[in-house]
Formats: sequence, C-alpha cells, structure tokens
Amino acid sequence: MDQQTFIIDCPFCKAKVAAFERGSGTYTYWDEEIGEPIGTMLIIGSCPNCRELLVGRAYQTEFEGFQGAEKDEWSRRIDRVYPTPQKTFRSQRIPESALESLSEADRSLQAGANIAACAMFGRALEALCRDVLGTKIMLGQGVSMLKDKGFIDERIYDWSQQLRAFRNLAAHPDAITVSMEDAEDLQSFVYAIFEYIYDLTDRYEEFKARMAKKPASK
Ligand SMILES: [Zn+2]
Repeated sequence: MDQQTFIIDCPFCKAKVAAFERGSGTYTYWDEEIGEPIGTMLIIGSCPNCRELLVGRAYQTEFEGFQGAEKDEWSRRIDRVYPTPQKTFRSQRIPESALESLSEADRSLQAGANIAACAMFGRALEALCRDVLGTKIMLGQGVSMLKDKGFIDERIYDWSQQLRAFRNLAAHPDAITVSMEDAEDLQSFVYAIFEYIYDLTDRYEEFKARMAKKPASK
C-alpha cells in the first residue's frame, strides 16, 4: 500500500524529508471582513529517518464552488509548526530585507549550512543598522553607532561584535568550520537584538501610551 507523504523540514535530521502522513485536520471558514474563504490544514507526520513526529501547516489555495474551483486545493509548501516553529516577531517595523535574511539563515541552519547562516545573520544585522540609523552604513561602523547613540547597551554590543566576527569569517573563502552549537547561539543573539530594538521598544511605547491614558491613582 502506498503511504501518503509530505515534504517538511526535519529539525533533527537538518534536512527536508518526505514525512509519512499520520493524520490531518482542516478548518475552513468565511472571512466576513475580506469577503473570502480561509482554510488551514494541520498535518502530522513522522520523519522517515529519525521517526520523530513533525507537524506542518498548509493554507487552502482553492475552495470547491468558490470562483469556479472544482475542488479544494492546498498550498504545496508546508511550514513546520512543531517542533520549534520558525521565529516570528511582533513588530511591523522590521525591514523586509532583514526578515528575509533571518528566514534564509534559519533555512541554512536547518540544512546544516552553518557558514551560510552566519553570512545571513550579518546581513540581517546590517539591515537593522541601516534601518535604525537611517543611513547606508557598513556593519562594523553601524554597530558602533548603535552603541554610541544609546540604541544598544554594552552586552548587546558584545553579541553584535561576535556576529560581525563570524560574518567576516563567512564572507571570505578561507577554510573555516562553524559548529552547529555556535551557529545556534549566534541565532539566539541576533533574535535577541531584533526583539530588543523592535518588539520590546514597540511594546514599551504602547505600554507608556496606555499608562498616560489612565487616571492617576495612588
Ligand atoms: Zn528526522
């Protein structure tokens, strides 16, 4: 008997695998606001190599009976939601180019391409510098300016220097290796910097605005 499979990133095998489907659920509803149907599918499977369970999410692209569609269709791309879904940020201010670099770094890490991931971390951080400082600036100078202008403190500055050092290694054709452990640490640092500069800053501004509206209490 043929077993149904779907393609998903296995974080344990660091590879795209054809997972064996074990079950799925769908939810389709009519969105009043946009006047269109929306559909989501969660699909659970097991990795053919390590046998770990993996859960992915697909989106409905065609709806039977809607705009002439003959049957329901689902996106071919399946995003992993379990385990360790891709990092998402709350802030809407993060430049698209930075988000793309972070996402590409994550895909590189999942495929075990650690040097490529380091190059992308640097690219993301450089985009952050340019966005925050409002000028086309190189990574090294950008990070120093972020510190001088008080956007980041000493500790985050140190993390940025590590990211810059690895980015510099990654950018040159010398024989180097970057361990998975180091690359994952650097990923945590770059995420923390983005959260600090964007997510937490937005959140604090919203918090302050709420506090300002409240009647003074003792
Ligand atoms: Zn696996």
